[in-house]
Order: sequence, then structure tokens, then C-alpha cells
Amino acid sequence: MVSPSVPDAVQPRPSLDEVLAPGSPVDGIARRFVDSGHELYLVGGPVRDALLGRPAQDLDFATDATPEETEAMLQPLAESVWLQGAKYGTVGALLSGIHVEITTFRTEKYQPSSRHPEVTFEKSIETDLSRRDFTVNAMAIRLPDREPVDPFGGRRDVDRRVLRTPADPRDSFSDDPLRMLRAFRFASQLGFKIDREARVAIEELASLIDTVSAERIRDELSRLVVGREPASALRLADSTGLTDRFLPELSSLKLEQDPVHRHKDVFAHTLAVIERTAPELELRLAALLHDIGKPKTRTIGPDGVSFHHHEVVGARMAAERLRALRYPNEVVQEVERLIYLHHRFHTYRLGWSDSAVRRYVRDAGGELVQLNALVRADCTTRNATKAKQLAERMDELEDRISALAQREELERIRPDLDGEQVMAYLGVPPGPIVGEALAALLEVRLEEGPLGEDEAYSRLDAWARERGIEPAGDKRPAKPKKKKA
Ligand code: ATP
Ligand code: MG
Repeated sequence: MVSPSVPDAVQPRPSLDEVLAPGSPVDGIARRFVDSGHELYLVGGPVRDALLGRPAQDLDFATDATPEETEAMLQPLAESVWLQGAKYGTVGALLSGIHVEITTFRTEKYQPSSRHPEVTFEKSIETDLSRRDFTVNAMAIRLPDREPVDPFGGRRDVDRRVLRTPADPRDSFSDDPLRMLRAFRFASQLGFKIDREARVAIEELASLIDTVSAERIRDELSRLVVGREPASALRLADSTGLTDRFLPELSSLKLEQDPVHRHKDVFAHTLAVIERTAPELELRLAALLHDIGKPKTRTIGPDGVSFHHHEVVGARMAAERLRALRYPNEVVQEVERLIYLHHRFHTYRLGWSDSAVRRYVRDAGGELVQLNALVRADCTTRNATKAKQLAERMDELEDRISALAQREELERIRPDLDGEQVMAYLGVPPGPIVGEALAALLEVRLEEGPLGEDEAYSRLDAWARERGIEPAGDKRPAKPKKKKA
């Protein structure tokens, strides 16, 4: 099956070497910390990403300084500093355009359903690293001398591309059950495997994720779906029973096997569709949920299985699920709309009138591009002829949409003067002469573009005199145009 390659980073970003180079703003901050008798380490994601050769994203640091001390050292050097996270130990700043977060060494605990941790400040980088989720995320680089700190063999695990917890996975996942979902999120994002012991622990402890707040689950699920390998991560997460706890619709899709008519497994199809879409949150969520209405709408008739109105049922179910996961309204509505409309294209082969095309465009609204992308991705058939046909039909629909848009753009073009202005200027009542004058003005408008009122009146004057009409010369300003609905 073809799956479009997913770009790792959209914009070019500086490498970590550049970011930490002597004389760089980060180097300046590090020297300030050390000169004040403090320690500063680059930690977590950026260290891992540097080993993977992935460009530096946001930079996380750890320090023994308190948030107040950190703030005082940052203020003179940063463009802006924010303190919303200070009670959890984190001071954020913008430093030469780079987003940095400096967090006091800490360990944390999450109470059931709470979005925010209870934090204990710690004395050493080693303790801080020991509470981190995976060994590949539990490495640090001391600054400014760039001495690596890797107490749990993270470097080796990066090389092996394995996600492993620093200590016993059962303890780690019991301490913070979200880490189980983070395992699949990193599996998707980095293309790493999950260590066997960790996988077994997830199977055993999956139900603990019920105690995690919906917002925290949402944030990890979002990163998982926009990752580079969402299909294998979701397949694995499902096999451990973890996704069942907060997204039970996913595994219900496996019940759709129909051996008699050899109808495809909707679960496998869904995963294939996700990987065929660009890594954009709403589009990927729509791909993930586009067929969840199928189990409920499945009927078996003489022509085989059908899923009548599954898109309507599915759109509603998806909206409910995304709301429960506390997705913002805009995301819920966009995904709901994409799912609701994803099936309409299948009537295109029966022939769509221009008004059907217009309705499709209007109903898709701002999501037209994503909708067409979803429809294209939804075609996972192995039958090459059928796939080609569907793709060509979509090409045709897209051509018709743009032709129609252009035509209607032209149709909206009006002469520079309206009927009342023409009648007043010529001093004539309504009648064919007004229509002829307007047609002539429209001709000039199409030929030369907008003329402006003054020029339009002088063209009208010339046109009238050619026909022996002596204009009354009453120039009226155009009435304000009515706003289009
Ligand atoms: P990304 O590049 O996607 O942001 P990241 O590794 O920075 O990846 P974050 O979720 O931003 O991931 O977390 C930053 C670091 O904090 C992680 O690398 C990890 O060390 C630690 N961390 C975050 N959440 C947890 C958690 N729930 N349990 C343990 N450690 C965590
Ligand atoms: Mg991060």
C-alpha cells in the first residue's frame, strides 16, 4: 500500500551544535548560571533528538536554581519571560527566538484525574532524571562544558531505537499511568519499538489510565496521531488493551470482518487511511474516526454488507468522543464535518450537477482541502483499476470545483454603474436602452477591468452620444452594495 512519506520537520531549524555553540545565547545563559554557583543541564527531548540527528525543537533545561533565581538570571538576557509554570518549577523564556523552559530539579506525582502534578524539588540531576519516563528521555548535557549525563543507558537505547523505562516499568506506570500512552506516542513519533517488559506491564496495568485526566490523554493522543508511524503505534496500543480504555470505538472496528462477502476489516482499513493522510491533527483524527459508525449501522442484505448512513452516525459518535477527550470545539466541529461528508463523494460517479458540486463545496466550507484529502486517503482498495478510477474521479471533481469557482467569480463582475445611475445620467425611464447601456459598460469592464465611476460616466456619455442620445448629466454616487449573506 502506498503511504506518503511524512516530513519530519516542516521548517528548517538550527542544529543543537549551533544552538549551544560558544558565544550563543544559550551558552551565555549557561555561563551566567555557573558564575552564580548554579548548575544548568539541557535535558530530555532535545538531548534525545540531537542523538537522532533531528533538528532542535523547544529546549528544556534542568537546574538546581529556584524558579525565582532562574527568573532573575534570565530577565536581562531574554526577550520575554513567563512564570505560569513557576509553582511547578518551570520558568519559560524566549531567547533569540528560541523557546526555552528551565525547570528546577524535581520529581512529581499526579493525583487521579488531575491535570497538574504535585511537585517536590530535588537536589541533583540524577534524581531528576530518575523520574523521567524512558531512558532515551532521561539523558542530560551539562552546560556550558557539554558533559553528557546518562545514568540509565539512554544513549544505547537511542541506538537500538527502544523505549525502556529507567526502573521497573510496573512502578513507573503505576506512578504515572500516562507514561503507557506516552510509550505509543514516542513509538509513533520516533519510530521506536517498545521494550518487551514495558509492553507486558502495559497489558497488565492498562486500566490505570482511567485515573488520568482527559486533557493529558488528549495531548499524547494528538502527538501520536500526527507522528510518523501512527498505524503501527495504534495497532500495538490496541493489542495491549490501552486504547480500549479511552477510545473503545477503535477496537470495535475489528468486528467488521465479513467472511462471506470478504468485506475488509475496518480496523486495518482505518490504520491504512491514517497513514495515507498528511500529519495534520484534524485530518488524522478524522481518518482515525471516519468509520466508527460502521459497527452500529451494519446490516447484511442480499447484496452483502452495508453500512447505511454510517457517516452520519460516525460523525456524531466522533464528536462525542472528542468532546469527552476535551478537544477544543473548533477541532471537534472540523472532524465532525469531515466525517459527516466523507462518504458523499461516492455518489459522484452517478453524475453530479453543478448545484451538487456547489453544495459539496459549501458544506465542506473551510475544510474542503482536507475533505478531498480524506476521501482520496479512504481509497485503500488493492484493485489498481478501481483505485485509479477513484483518483481520476476526484481529479475531475477538483477541476470542476475550480472551473465553477472561476466562472462564478466572473459572474459576480458587474458594470461600473448600476441601472439607476444609467437612467439618471441618460435621463431615460426603464427600458431596453438601459439594458444596452449596461451591457456596453459590462463589456468595457470585462475588457479593461474596473474603471471607477468618473471614467465609467464618461464612457457612458460617449456611448450615448454615438447613439444620438443627449445625456441629462445627472451623476449619482453608487448606492452602498448590500452585503452578501
Ligand atoms: P517532544 O519533542 O515531542 O516535546 P519531549 O521528550 O520533549 O518530546 P515532553 O512531553 O515535552 O516530551 O516532555 C519533556 C520531558 O519531560 C521528556 O523528555 C521526559 O523526560 C519528561 N516527561 C514528560 N512527561 C513525563 C511523564 N509523564 N513522566 C515522566 N517523564 C516525563
Ligand atoms: Mg517537549
